[in-house]
Amino acid sequence: MTERLLAPPEAARDEAIAIVGAGPAGLTTAWELARLGRRATLYEKDRCVGGIAQTAEYKGFRFDLGGHRFFTKVGEVQGIWEEILGDDFLSRPRLSRIYYRQRFFDYPLKPLNALAGLGPVEAVRIVASYAKARLLPSREERNFEQWVSNRFGRRLFEVFFKTYTEKVWGLPCEEISADWAAQRIQNLDLGRAIAAALFGRSGGDVVTTLIHQFHYPRHGPGMMWERCAERLAVAGSPTRLEHELVRIDHRDGRVTGIAVRDGEGRVAERPVEHLICSIPLGRAAELLSPPPTAPVLAAARGLRHRDFLTVVLIVDRAELFPDNWIYVHEPAVRVGRIQNFKNWSPEMVPDPGRTALGLEYFANRGDEVWSLPDAELVALAKREIEQLGLAEAAAVSDGTVVRVPYAYPVYDPGYRERVAAVRACLEGLANLQMIGRNGQHRYNNQDHSMLTGIYAARNVLEPAHDVWDVNVDEEYHEAVSAARGGDRLTPAAAGEATLEELLHAHFARFDGVALGAATAVTLALLLFAATASVLLVGNGDHPGPMLSLLGHYFFGFELSWRGALVGVLEAGALGFVLGSGLAVAINALINWVERSLQRELEAEQKLDSLQGVTR
Ligand SMILES: Cc1cc2nc3c(=O)[nH]c(=O)nc-3n(C[C@H](O)[C@H](O)[C@H](O)COP(=O)(O)OP(=O)(O)OC[C@H]3O[C@@H](n4cnc5c(N)ncnc54)[C@H](O)[C@@H]3O)c2cc1C
Repeated sequence: MTERLLAPPEAARDEAIAIVGAGPAGLTTAWELARLGRRATLYEKDRCVGGIAQTAEYKGFRFDLGGHRFFTKVGEVQGIWEEILGDDFLSRPRLSRIYYRQRFFDYPLKPLNALAGLGPVEAVRIVASYAKARLLPSREERNFEQWVSNRFGRRLFEVFFKTYTEKVWGLPCEEISADWAAQRIQNLDLGRAIAAALFGRSGGDVVTTLIHQFHYPRHGPGMMWERCAERLAVAGSPTRLEHELVRIDHRDGRVTGIAVRDGEGRVAERPVEHLICSIPLGRAAELLSPPPTAPVLAAARGLRHRDFLTVVLIVDRAELFPDNWIYVHEPAVRVGRIQNFKNWSPEMVPDPGRTALGLEYFANRGDEVWSLPDAELVALAKREIEQLGLAEAAAVSDGTVVRVPYAYPVYDPGYRERVAAVRACLEGLANLQMIGRNGQHRYNNQDHSMLTGIYAARNVLEPAHDVWDVNVDEEYHEAVSAARGGDRLTPAAAGEATLEELLHAHFARFDGVALGAATAVTLALLLFAATASVLLVGNGDHPGPMLSLLGHYFFGFELSWRGALVGVLEAGALGFVLGSGLAVAINALINWVERSLQRELEAEQKLDSLQGVTR
């Protein structure tokens, strides 16, 4: 399969294409380039590939740096995952809950479950504050707090959004831009969500498939990216691990070369014709030689990131809880989210009698949590897991810590202007493209990070794509590319993967003509067979009540061959009308169910997005 996709080394054209960063964006760029017959060299400062989507390993226990679900509406991205992973691309059941005030709440949030769990007093407060938000919304919608309160009511914001969001970002919600919420959730209506909860859901299979399952590689996301790098190496595009980009030389609006430092500290210079970078946007500007203007440098340095760390606890218990992950909204503990990697894939643990948990703490490099020695972090995690009642500290036999810098680009006030200033400067270099999550300072998942890489690779052949024209509203952008008459630039199967069409595919419609014809033939045959049997067997004096009655319904029907012919024609006509009418009625019902499901699913996905702030 790979041989079909990737050009063999001798066929690939040798050009000095450098890709910096071997995360999903960089590796996908090289993959697409190889598919187009171009070789590239990847430089990665880490010891392994995959970037934030890598899978780390400790004594045979595998774990993600944050659980990575594989979900996309972009058919082309899905195709790459499937091609590389084959049978190792598992479909896994999903369960995740919220822990708050010593209780678990369904996640994605289900209004009735949430209101019941919080008790009647809190439920009344939530509903009243929701009503107030709808009647008297805040005029200003500049920050996250205003944005969410206007849509959900202030009380629900305080209960379900404030604590967790502030844990993740380390910022008061008033300081988080409304853009972030707007990018993650649009048109979500609590009223609709409550209605969906009240009236229940039908067509559970579809909802289950789309919301309660996800794809995941057998050995974690790193498996995808390790395999990708291996195949690329075979195709002539190697990854140089422990090679950090330390300078970008440029002249007359073009990058002329780069300097990379290897694991031994040696710096080597490389000429490049194309440079594709997935390193943090601000960092790229800082590496320019000659340097950019002071305002651009200031903007670059002003782009902030939130970091996080995972404390992995090995627990000597076969089963602890059924969730893949739990959001910890509880203010009494510092942990923000807990992963149970075995529930992501059983093969993430080497011993089925033990469990590996990942306790995620959000931090800023150098702050108190970040700077705690590993042993103290493990001790903190042990205390908190017991405090939450999820495992006894005594059952924890081992632990380790992985720190993840640059985990989240921060959308603080002014970030847009800073991104625009840095972007404008870097776009002044014709052969430099910034891709990926941090490369564009965008809160992208793997799929959109990968799509920027696909576009960047194609731009090497023909600069026709705006790599910045990819974001979480990709459906929209795909529609635009299609409207432009785009060729393969538009992910080929993307249209098939829209929510509407996925649902449509699950609900077959009846063909009115076909059902009409089938009913017509069935009725006509039944009538003919019944009449003929009476005529042939010669029991015409006692035709039976049913057959006698037919004369009342079919004009001209009688117990004779002529009468049978008349009856057959009339029964056929009646059958056609009944069958096609039935098809129209069933289709109308299916349309109604499908539309309700789509609304419900969109609402759930958007709630999911908002709550899934840690992606
Ligand atoms: C906690 C968490 C959970 C997530 N969950 C999901 C999920 O469920 N599903 C999903 O699809 N996505 C998820 N994501 C997002 C996903 O991780 C990113 O979209 C994806 O990793 C971005 O890929 P990238 O290649 O753009 O960047 P990265 O993964 O950040 O890769 C960039 C690479 O560049 C390297 N680099 C940086 N500077 C240099 C330099 N100077 N020289 C050389 N190399 C350098 C880095 O070491 C890194 O390997 C999650 C992210 C987080 C933080």
